[in-house]
Amino acid sequence: LIVLGIETSCDDTAAAVVTGNGKILSQIVSSQADLLSRYGGVAPKMAEEAHSLVIDQVVQQALDNSSLTGEDLSAVAVTIGPGLSLCLRVGVTKARSIAGRFNLPFIGVHHMEAHTLVARLVERDLQFPFLALLISGGHNLLILARDVGHYVQLGTTIDDAIGEAYDKTARWLGLDISKGGGQALEELAHEGDSNSVKFKIPMRQYKDCNFSYAGLKTQVRLAIESRHVCVDKNPILSASSHERKSRADIAASFQRVAVLHLEERCQRAIEWAKEMEPSIKCLVVSGGVASNQYVRSRLNYVVERNGISLVCPPPNLCTDNGVMVAWTGIEHFILGRFDPPPPAFDPEDYMCDLRPRWPLGEEYLHGKSEAR
Ligand code: ATP
Ligand code: FE
Repeated sequence: LIVLGIETSCDDTAAAVVTGNGKILSQIVSSQADLLSRYGGVAPKMAEEAHSLVIDQVVQQALDNSSLTGEDLSAVAVTIGPGLSLCLRVGVTKARSIAGRFNLPFIGVHHMEAHTLVARLVERDLQFPFLALLISGGHNLLILARDVGHYVQLGTTIDDAIGEAYDKTARWLGLDISKGGGQALEELAHEGDSNSVKFKIPMRQYKDCNFSYAGLKTQVRLAIESRHVCVDKNPILSASSHERKSRADIAASFQRVAVLHLEERCQRAIEWAKEMEPSIKCLVVSGGVASNQYVRSRLNYVVERNGISLVCPPPNLCTDNGVMVAWTGIEHFILGRFDPPPPAFDPEDYMCDLRPRWPLGEEYLHGKSEAR
């Protein structure tokens, strides 16, 4: 079993070839981070053009690096949602054209399910049920994974995701975000005192598993303004050592509280999950922010305290990639969940495959009924 996975839901164009027993034969990621850093965010039309420009090359490179051609594949998997429809369409069109040309089954993949299930490629004996914390640019989810395609959502963000808060803070602190704001902020935070700015931990009064990062963002902005740290267009490279320290203090304090919020919510989610599924043994942490070493080490304490284990994919499988899409395709394919090969490619037809808004599983209302 050999599956090609394609990912274009946001700002990375990615493709990979993975075998049924979890061997990664190739993986290619072409990032738009540099473009985004110049324009201040994802502009759908611009992102679509960037995907269109590289998609053929990225997929071809993935096939070449695996020393395979389309004829050797068993199926093609592609992210069909959630995400920006203009961007999703680029990947789906490409996937359908390959599946059509080589007469291959087609598997439409949920982007957040892919972030979750890649943990089962990394940790081959990871069994259901498990708990998953998905932290990325657009999502902040706590889910109970009961089986492939069967998820219960314990919590989500009521406003921004943690990755968005990292990205904004990095931008405001004048960091070089050409390789991504989160990583730049994590690096600067090493130089700062994480107790120097007293940010408030979000949502403590709500005894649930939801998240909120908009208020923390506002607190950061106010701290920056009140300390007269020059921001936005004032790059950190030209800051004096005093000012650099001041920015590092804000970065470290932000990170401490942003992650404390995750820790508190995970603690509660573990308690809920143990009530629902006493056999639960593992917390999976995935999505771009899971590549952060501080996040990983703090969540490690949480799981140790609760007698369960942590599975956190390596950083290049936490951020958007084609491997997670190919692997999720494999998980579904094995269960017979795939579409027949598309007929001769029909450009009018592919719109029906996109699911730009697509919740992952049903919402859990603690203490009330399990599903709404
Ligand atoms: P989503 O998965 O919600 O659709 P996305 O696909 O754009 O969003 P990912 O690629 O999964 O997101 O993750 C990108 C996010 O991860 C960005 O917000 C980025 O800043 C953040 N990130 C990446 N590395 C780190 C890091 N070391 N520390 C903190 N955040 C990080
Ligand atoms: Fe993602």
